[in-house]
Amino acid sequence: MALIEINNLIFKYTKRNVIDDLSLTINESEYITLLGQNGSGKSTLAKLLVGLLEPKSGNIKINDLELNEKNIDVIREKVGIIFQNPDNQFYGITVRDDIAFGLENRCVPKEEMDKLVYKYARLVHMEEYLDRNPEDLSGGQKQRVAIAGVLAFNPDIIIFDEATSMLDPAGTKEVIDTINSLYGKKTIISITHNLNEAVKSDRVIVLKRGKIVLDGKPEDVFKEKDTLKDSNLDITISMKMLELVKKTNIKHKKEVEDLLWELTFKM
Ligand code: ADP
Repeated sequence: MALIEINNLIFKYTKRNVIDDLSLTINESEYITLLGQNGSGKSTLAKLLVGLLEPKSGNIKINDLELNEKNIDVIREKVGIIFQNPDNQFYGITVRDDIAFGLENRCVPKEEMDKLVYKYARLVHMEEYLDRNPEDLSGGQKQRVAIAGVLAFNPDIIIFDEATSMLDPAGTKEVIDTINSLYGKKTIISITHNLNEAVKSDRVIVLKRGKIVLDGKPEDVFKEKDTLKDSNLDITISMKMLELVKKTNIKHKKEVEDLLWELTFKM
């Protein structure tokens, strides 16, 4: 079932259309990776989806409800977003306060709130840090707390806007594992530069100058190497090796190529 419907969306900050007549349907529980070079409009699209920006024309419907001034509060309950910089999403003195933030605004009774906070802290393996100051956490831990905070208000859709780009490899892995654990339970839109992250999604969408240039299963989109390179995306190590092997005359070339292609989807 279509959960998000974007119809002929146009947005511009100044003169140029940053989102240029974009139409897209996303189904319930789909895990989408949104790729594209810097400036292609990914963050802008994310901000339009959570109502932080208003389209110049076209529309966005979430669960058949048009995103407009009248419906914005209802829709904000349905869409959560995790931003790039973990330091920009903290409001409280303790991890507990941070996870509870969205719930407090909703006037959830204290006892129920405590239960929910613990439940989601546990889900992201941060239950032992509830009384700690968020400032003392690593980047990966901060992002996991932010994810718990979003999960606590139970949105149908979660957008990760380059949520791993400021993290070290360990933090990146923690956050990717958390995203993967939500697979099938939430509709996920993950914005990234990293094709390794894209491999696990149901569908990869590549944006260029505010338009969709590729949209399909990872294995199909990854075959379009020229378009991916043209979008300055880092192809995976196995894909790089595949390119090298293609240029050689080694024995069992076909088998090695098949193996590397397979490996791309197992990393
Ligand atoms: P991406 O997330 O793909 O890197 P963005 O959506 O951040 O792309 O930006 C798309 C384009 O819009 C870029 O050319 C960027 O410079 C421009 N842009 C982004 N934010 C603003 C803003 N607040 N004011 C003016 N131009 C902006």
